[in-house]
Amino acid sequence: MKNLILIAPPAAGKGTISSYLVENMGYQHISTGDILRNVAKEDSERGHFVSGLMKEGKFIGDDIILPLFKEELLKIKNQSFILDGFPRTIVQADYLTDLFQEIGIDDYVVIQLEIDSSLLLKRATGRRVCTSCKATYNVYFDGFKPKVENVCDQCGGDLIQREDDTEETFKNRYEVYRSETEPLIAYYEAKGKLKKVNANVTEEEILENVKRCLND
Ligand code: AMP
Repeated sequence: MKNLILIAPPAAGKGTISSYLVENMGYQHISTGDILRNVAKEDSERGHFVSGLMKEGKFIGDDIILPLFKEELLKIKNQSFILDGFPRTIVQADYLTDLFQEIGIDDYVVIQLEIDSSLLLKRATGRRVCTSCKATYNVYFDGFKPKVENVCDQCGGDLIQREDDTEETFKNRYEVYRSETEPLIAYYEAKGKLKKVNANVTEEEILENVKRCLND
């Protein structure tokens, strides 16, 4: 199975696609957002620093994220994997290109999720995440609301709103995506690695199209 790099604006559905591929196709998943949310919980100078930047919707510096990312990638490099949230800048993409070369990875596809920006704000501010099993819900969209308010349908855990899913922080994250991450689309197009998937359709259709890209 091809390795996958997901490029998409915040709240476009990277996590949902990743969970599906992990549960149904045996993929390993590296989410740099999850790695950094764990760092942000540390009661240390580094933890407080990371937590502050994430609350503002800013990127964490490469001195912190690159070694953490490399460590995770080396653990799973011999299995099929999804990179969710990395790379996010051209500097990180160059780093990844070199790392892939060093460890002999060439079989990968980059999927850009194309989504109407007007949908994203509601997806972000309505998102609720289970504190224990990480299942996600959305309080604005039928079919995605939890059956009981703030309780996970799957495990009964508490649902919370991520600290960076407020309207103000979402707007910062989206701006940073446009300026720092969107240039990766041309970067991977030039390498012949890029595929585009329309993410304005149903979850089933999105997943079908993602699977098609992985099998091409
Ligand atoms: P995500 O869960 O992918 O939306 O990421 C949440 C937040 O983690 C981002 O808004 C950034 O603050 C931080 N983050 C995640 N991945 C990276 C990365 N590759 N480089 C820098 N910061 C990151």
